[in-house]
Amino acid sequence: NSFEDSELHTRLQKNVSLAKYTKPTPVQKRAVPIIAANRDLMACAQTGSGKTAAFLLPVLNRMLAMGGPPDSFNHRAAEPTSLVLAPTRELAVQIYEESFKFCYKTGIVPQVVYGGADFRDQVKQMQRGCDVIVATPGRLVDMIQRGRISLERIRFLTLDEADRMLDMGFEPQIREIVEQCGMPRKEDRQTLMFSATFPREIQQLASDFLNDYIFLSV
Ligand code: AMP
Repeated sequence: NSFEDSELHTRLQKNVSLAKYTKPTPVQKRAVPIIAANRDLMACAQTGSGKTAAFLLPVLNRMLAMGGPPDSFNHRAAEPTSLVLAPTRELAVQIYEESFKFCYKTGIVPQVVYGGADFRDQVKQMQRGCDVIVATPGRLVDMIQRGRISLERIRFLTLDEADRMLDMGFEPQIREIVEQCGMPRKEDRQTLMFSATFPREIQQLASDFLNDYIFLSV
């Protein structure tokens, strides 16, 4: 019933306290152990449920357990190991800000890219390192096509607010992005999907992208 019970890396526990989170929310309590056990997850959870920390904390924990982030500096293209897709700039920035807090003193560098902002500024920013990339689908496809980011090393893939991404017409971009992952076979990466609703289109996406997944509704 506390974050101390969750077997997170000490540094992550400290960062959780610094963020003033004392007790995990229901989705955090249920999703963290599933993700920590390396299982794929389809979670139905609303905004405000604490779903962001529910996927960020166990993924960062697994990245740390894998021996820390690769040295992503001085590459022409950024090579993150974790990708989070979100429908809007606002949500992407919120996820990034939460990642930034949790990554404090871990050596893991998060970055965010979204449409409607200067492309070159975002590329320049990524040259400071990029282990976790939070992105809206359109801008990410653009970055891939212009050779500024490589998804070759992606091991963790999260689709947040998947139903909204489909409503906004991002399905072709999402499929293109998953194809670009170095681990396009769903057995080889860990994939997490969060959605407020679970209509037929989301069920289809889940069966296409997730491997033997656990379904959670909170
Ligand atoms: P989310 O549903 O991920 O958008 O989170 C909603 C809000 O709750 C965000 O402002 C988080 O910073 C905050 N939050 C998430 N988990 C916790 C927690 N365990 N304790 C306190 N605040 C939290």
